Amino acid sequence: MKQLYVIGDPVAHSKSPLLHNTMCALLGLDFTYACRTVHKEELAAFLTAAKESGCAGFNATMPFKELLLPYLDGLDPLAKKLGAVNTICIECNKLYGYNTDCPGYTAALRQHGFDPQGKQAVLLGAGGAAKAVALGLSEAGATVLVANRTASKAKAITSLCPDKIRPIPWPTADAPDLAGADLLVNATSLGMAGQGEFSDFTFLDALPAACLVSDLIYHPAPTELLRRAEARGLATMDGFPLLIHQAILALEHFTGHAIPPDQVLPALEAAVRN
Ligand code: NAP
Repeated sequence: MKQLYVIGDPVAHSKSPLLHNTMCALLGLDFTYACRTVHKEELAAFLTAAKESGCAGFNATMPFKELLLPYLDGLDPLAKKLGAVNTICIECNKLYGYNTDCPGYTAALRQHGFDPQGKQAVLLGAGGAAKAVALGLSEAGATVLVANRTASKAKAITSLCPDKIRPIPWPTADAPDLAGADLLVNATSLGMAGQGEFSDFTFLDALPAACLVSDLIYHPAPTELLRRAEARGLATMDGFPLLIHQAILALEHFTGHAIPPDQVLPALEAAVRN
């Protein structure tokens, strides 16, 4: 049985073991997946031990998505562009880094019936998750307008794809940028349990009736933002599809086994939503 982990600090709340062990059981894959709290100063020791113990790979969450980069022997081009990894495979004592948040988000949208090609997206936030979403959407052919509390970070994101991504002010009820939006994505931590909440939701009134409102947060699901969007009659997508699709893509990297999403989606949806 090969060992996989998710490492982070904190990480005990992670749903990754549930997702990966559900897929391995369903597909008969000889892997087991566990949570491992690793403090920043323990990273080098964890990597040595993981290689020596024959661990097949691990997922990384806060604070390691960027801290791992100097330790890697190889980096996927997408992860290199983002400067962040969430999936590390160990092969022949070497570490190879990937980012599955980026393709995972576009896969989640497509599963939802939304093709980003030619669409206009308004993205709230400019942190790690927002960067992955902005790159995924722009590479899939969407225009991405980024609004962030710290405007300089929204501007910095545009360098990922200057032709397709541009900064906008934080949206208001009459924001002209919202009238043409096909997709609004919340990639801030506003609305997450234990974090702050949006002080004003009136920007939802500026969205056209066909706009999809997506929140990366899955605790709670739905968030207040999605509840209000639904009340306005807008289609919504919570954070679970991203969580699920980034895990499917990570397990493909770990095992080298193609995983048809339809084969695992019902079991994964049931596992995380119950
Ligand atoms: P991050 O790098 O810390 O970024 C946080 C973002 O939230 C920044 O843009 C920050 O703005 C903004 N923000 C925080 N507090 C704010 C406030 N009071 N008012 C306005 N903006 C505020 O975090 P992240 O890793 O990108 O994660 C962002 C969210 O996505 C989290 O809620 C996380 O749970 C969720 N997420 C979900 C998945 C999934 O699988 N579904 C995956 C990854 C992340 P400033 O730049 O101004 O600080």
